Amino acid sequence: MKSWQQRERAREILSKEVGYVSKPHGGRLRVALAFPNTYFVGMSNLGFQTVYKLFNAEDDIVCERVFLPPKTELASQLSGGAPLVTLESQTPVNEFDIFAFSVSFEWDYTNVVSLLRLAGLKPRAADRTHRDPLVMIGGAVTFVNPEPLAPFADVVAAGEGEALIPPLLAAFKNASDRDDLLRRLAAERGFYIPSFYDVMHRPDGTLEAFVPKPGTGAPPTVKKAALKTTEAVDPPATTIFTPDTELGSRFLVEVVRGCANLCRFCWAGYNYLPVRAFPKDRILQLAESARRYSSHAGLVSIALCDHPEIEEILTRLVEMGYSISPASLRLDDLTPTILNLLRRSGERTITIAPEVGSDRLRRVINKTITNEEIFAAADMIFESGFENLKLYFMIGLPTETDDDLVAIRDMTKQLHETMLRHQRGRGHIGRIVGSVNPLVPKPGTAYQWLPMEDDGSIGRKIRRMKSLMAGIDNVYFNIKSERHSFYQALLSLGDRRVAAAIEAAERNGGNWRAAVAETGVDADFYVFRDRSADSVLPWDIIDGGLKDQFFRSEFDKALREEWTLPPKRQKDNARLLTVLQ
Ligand code: SF4
Repeated sequence: MKSWQQRERAREILSKEVGYVSKPHGGRLRVALAFPNTYFVGMSNLGFQTVYKLFNAEDDIVCERVFLPPKTELASQLSGGAPLVTLESQTPVNEFDIFAFSVSFEWDYTNVVSLLRLAGLKPRAADRTHRDPLVMIGGAVTFVNPEPLAPFADVVAAGEGEALIPPLLAAFKNASDRDDLLRRLAAERGFYIPSFYDVMHRPDGTLEAFVPKPGTGAPPTVKKAALKTTEAVDPPATTIFTPDTELGSRFLVEVVRGCANLCRFCWAGYNYLPVRAFPKDRILQLAESARRYSSHAGLVSIALCDHPEIEEILTRLVEMGYSISPASLRLDDLTPTILNLLRRSGERTITIAPEVGSDRLRRVINKTITNEEIFAAADMIFESGFENLKLYFMIGLPTETDDDLVAIRDMTKQLHETMLRHQRGRGHIGRIVGSVNPLVPKPGTAYQWLPMEDDGSIGRKIRRMKSLMAGIDNVYFNIKSERHSFYQALLSLGDRRVAAAIEAAERNGGNWRAAVAETGVDADFYVFRDRSADSVLPWDIIDGGLKDQFFRSEFDKALREEWTLPPKRQKDNARLLTVLQ
């Protein structure tokens, strides 16, 4: 695509948007903020919209957006199109001070490389010069394991944007040159400079140490930057509305951050601690002012009902005329009032995550609800008039047997019965849609040392699940393939050496099998190896606050089938015991 075509496309996109920021560049720190996927996908990402807003909230910063071109144009653009330009002012990205990436998903890693190339930059930091923009990679994935992306980044920003932007701006203002800038950032919480470390390996390929290079001032580990409280902070919310995105003109708002349940596989639960609720009044003010652009509110939170004033928030949103889509709901907090409010707003489907079918395996993963509670909640859901139920399950968990797979089928059948009981006579029967994913052990969780279950065994379980779930009316199951999860696991559990495979997959159009073979990356080593004897893991360079000792004791409790109850539940249990005594 030629420069004038890119500019024309950008202007057309802007003409359909409400809420973008346009500032003069003079005297400001210029940030080109990339979402490593298309505009259609990126504009529905609340993290991306939030970083854009936070950058532009600083008077001394101008931040403009950039996205991956549509798939049909990507190849021709890469092989000789004009350099990538930003949307707002259609300025070439390589004229900016910072090229920042907000990365939420492992599958977008190859797109990071494409965007660097589209901008006319060398993908690897070591091949770029000090005249190039500072390439900074942040977003959810950097909380978890930034190492596979580390060779592409000058700086990895690990933590929450609200806590990272002020020190970034101060470092730019005070730095005398690029080296000085990197040293200043390395001294701040949340900024990881990959080139400041020598990564040492043992002869067997495992990591031995991250050694800070002399004179850099780099700390032995980088502490994640997080907000202590959300009281004085605006809730992340949609600020740019466009019809041309996945979720349409939906007003997205984060209601509460984190989840105290601490399921042993869940990186989001462990990484967004402590649980912090955003102020109700501010959520409602933002919703009020967004109402003229949107009639649909998406409440983005992993444990929505943990907000102490959730019923009041939902009531006011309904009164404003919003239809409401919650993210997946945690069953232990559901109340008839919450369900009725959601139903009144027009929602017809509820999403819940039993994860497994048996109480025994739920104790292993520390999902602290029981089948009895799930069935009671389903009764309440269908009683409130919901038509459809969406279920999330996992397979490939430690200690799992065939009985656990059968238990998923039995649970689904019982939920189906409950649905029929409520809907018979209403003239319309809803659907139960299940999603089954093989466990990908995640860094920064109690399962971080676990190997992924091998292809043969997980393949057998997938086939078994398919046959168990076949032929139940109104029940549809989507069961993810083991190969898809395998490469996701490689990106999630890998170290810097995996970057070569990312580059190769970017070049060959996403053929991971060929990319791994061509680069000699030993994918099995990362995915199928038991890491429990490793003294250093790739993601140890970022200190998320929770100690190995805690994760190890959680893992031991998993094998003993013991729960670690979240504080709220502990209180309920204690109350119950007093009543019973
Ligand atoms: S309840 Fe959900 S969000 Fe909370 S820790 Fe468990 S899986 Fe994660």
